[in-house]
Amino acid sequence: MSVHAYGAYAGDKPLEPMQVHRREPGAHDVAIDIAFCGVCHSDLHQVRAEWEGTQFPCVPGHEIVGRVRAVGAHVTGFKVGDRVGVGCLVDSCRHCADCEEGLENYCDGMVGTYNFPTPDAPGWTQGGYSEQMVVHERYVLHVRHPDQQLAAVAPLLCAGITTYSPLRHWQAGPGKKVGVVGIGGLGHMGIKLAHAMGAHVVAFTTSEAKREAAKALGADEVVVSRDAEQMAAHTKSFDLIINTVAAPHDLDAFLVLLKRDGVLTLVGAPASPHPSPNVFNMIMKRRTLAGSMIGGITETQEMLDFCAEHQITADIELIRADEINEAYERMLKGDVKYRFVIDSATLNPQA
Ligand code: NAP
Ligand code: ZN
Ligand code: ZN
Repeated sequence: MSVHAYGAYAGDKPLEPMQVHRREPGAHDVAIDIAFCGVCHSDLHQVRAEWEGTQFPCVPGHEIVGRVRAVGAHVTGFKVGDRVGVGCLVDSCRHCADCEEGLENYCDGMVGTYNFPTPDAPGWTQGGYSEQMVVHERYVLHVRHPDQQLAAVAPLLCAGITTYSPLRHWQAGPGKKVGVVGIGGLGHMGIKLAHAMGAHVVAFTTSEAKREAAKALGADEVVVSRDAEQMAAHTKSFDLIINTVAAPHDLDAFLVLLKRDGVLTLVGAPASPHPSPNVFNMIMKRRTLAGSMIGGITETQEMLDFCAEHQITADIELIRADEINEAYERMLKGDVKYRFVIDSATLNPQA
């Protein structure tokens, strides 16, 4: 079946209304009426062909929430009407060591929610800027937040899990000093989550104007990263820093803030490389420069449940589908508090 969507026909073209094909639900599939879809900076990188290999037409979107419309005959975990989420992956090989450990996000056969090979037309996956989608139940999440929070839950499916996973992996919690670099979609979730885990949270921003807002999100301290003096005050003091910045920049400025054995984890994925860090800033204090990509399905469910329990959602600005190109420009300027979310009811141009 064909449903309304928003996507682009080329990297230098704006997004516009289009149709996408959705398969009939198979025995293990869940058919979902999408209610809201968050707008991740990765959507912009991909649809503007900043990353290699974008297939066009490209329909982005991997912060998806909605309700179950229909289930296949063998689906056991979901029923019609359930509130559900879909994040950045919709399939994987299901039998490698990564899949068996619940780390499908690191499976070599991972199928991303958009721009990955699929038997479905047109041959690559099409994402959540669309009215409906059909996903194998293994990759569908339960949303336990109340109905009225659904729009603000959407960004948890990428921005939430991408910061939750490294915070858990490197054991953020009481007694740990955790930095979050870049207060955008990912960064604002990182601050909320690290705060809820009980860590001492320091937000790094390039913009002084975000100082009070970062505190309201849960930061214990705020550092303007362009101010050398403010940066120097935190030398050799962090256990963990999560860097969400979407553009190349000087990593040494953050490496030197780690204490012995501290970890700087990159989650931001700029289109061109960072300047190489100075090796001495790693060997001198046995510091680690690491990376992390989204999270597995089990951990994504754990994150959603953690957020429901701690009443955590994203701070969002709800937009119409036809405002998406303007939203991208505003995201590039850092002019969003802190995530745009598309109201899927506006995807139909006749609506
Ligand atoms: P975003 O909302 O645009 O936030 C990025 C933040 O980085 C900005 O708000 C800004 O914060 C800071 N920044 C500083 N200098 C910048 C510059 N020159 N250009 C852009 N940003 C700058 O983006 P997002 O959705 O959080 O995504 C951030 C990055 O993570 C993207 O590269 C995205 O592709 C990537 N990502 C990775 C994963 C993963 O699995 N690893 C998952 C999702 C997204 P301040 O104003 O506070 O300085
Ligand atoms: Zn994303
Ligand atoms: Zn696998």
